[in-house]
Amino acid sequence: MNYQQADEQYIAHTYKRFPIVITKGQGSLVEDENGKEYIDLGTGIAVNSFGVADPVWQEAVSAQIAKVQHMSNLYYTEPCIELAQMLCSRTGMKKVFFSNSGAEANECAIKVARKYAAAKKGADCFTIVTLENSFHGRTITTLAATGQAHYHEDFQPLTPGFIHVQPGDMAALEAAAKEHKLAAVMIECVQGEGGVLPLDKDYVLALSQFVKDHDLLLIVDEVQTGNGRSGELYAYMHYGLSPDIVSTAKGLAGGLPLGATLMNDKTQDVLSYGDHGSTFGGNPVSCAAGVSILSRIDDALLADVRKKSALIFDALKDAPGVEDVSGLGLMIGVKTTKPAGEVLAACMENGLLCLTAKDRIRLLPALNIPEDILMKGIGILKAACV
Ligand SMILES: *Cc1c(COP(=O)(O)O)cnc(C)c1O
Repeated sequence: MNYQQADEQYIAHTYKRFPIVITKGQGSLVEDENGKEYIDLGTGIAVNSFGVADPVWQEAVSAQIAKVQHMSNLYYTEPCIELAQMLCSRTGMKKVFFSNSGAEANECAIKVARKYAAAKKGADCFTIVTLENSFHGRTITTLAATGQAHYHEDFQPLTPGFIHVQPGDMAALEAAAKEHKLAAVMIECVQGEGGVLPLDKDYVLALSQFVKDHDLLLIVDEVQTGNGRSGELYAYMHYGLSPDIVSTAKGLAGGLPLGATLMNDKTQDVLSYGDHGSTFGGNPVSCAAGVSILSRIDDALLADVRKKSALIFDALKDAPGVEDVSGLGLMIGVKTTKPAGEVLAACMENGLLCLTAKDRIRLLPALNIPEDILMKGIGILKAACV
């Protein structure tokens, strides 16, 4: 039985995989079982922040595995505390809850928002507003938060207490506040799965003012945009926001599962003993990886991310077969004249791995991708667009 047949027989059919078996890699280059090399502009969906098998990351992970791999949250472990301190000092947030994924980081954010609003304004103030076309995860509650109806089919009833408004539509937000008793508003600054679409700056500032005026919490989902991906440490920093809760995951530990929910001075003490927990959350190996990743995302690296972003925009914006380029930092959506799936297949054939989001090609290269490899990859993409 080959890999494809075994996968077909033994693994639930939730993923429509491409017919490639990746066996190894280094940085932004990966290799399949036949020795064919690919430039990787997908990084495992924004997870491998410094590419595949990065030596510095490997060293941090191996050193921690050699000491202690897991002790549960019944005891203190160093990497967990160190990473929480780093996250707070880099953001001004006050406390962190660690979990293992983006959906879990959002679940925690939602629990904090509900408990805060119930205590402050009454148990009926539980509704959270999210945006149409958003993506917040696959659990029953984060699906409810996700503003894309097709993900909801077949899984009803979802958790109650979520409504969705159109991005950019302040009137819809005002109407929601009249109709429902609200707890919070939750946004992605750049809708990743929704097509790599940054929210309009004026809208985000108006939304932030609205949240303050109505005594609501602002939750920013930085699961995909976070940890340097946007060209700032967190994308909300581009918008000058002061969120009450920030969730992040994907790139935080550079390839190991780690979610984090950050709480500010207002929300830091909402959760108390027994309110929330996770067996694996704050795992020392993931957290040691996180410390290593976060310590490398400094001003110089962020400037470099913004520079490479500009190079990609310049190379693609007037390219034949490209209708539009969207995004922020190294999170880029490309609307192509040809169907995105066709472009992606042609890229793969020619040694380039990229992703799609809705009707766009999505690029999420490693933050440290060498310029020559990046531009070679963009060349392959351009050729595939015509
Ligand atoms: C990927 C993603 C999630 C879900 O993360 P998982 O780790 O797959 O649970 C949530 N929100 C956003 C914005 C994401 O991009």
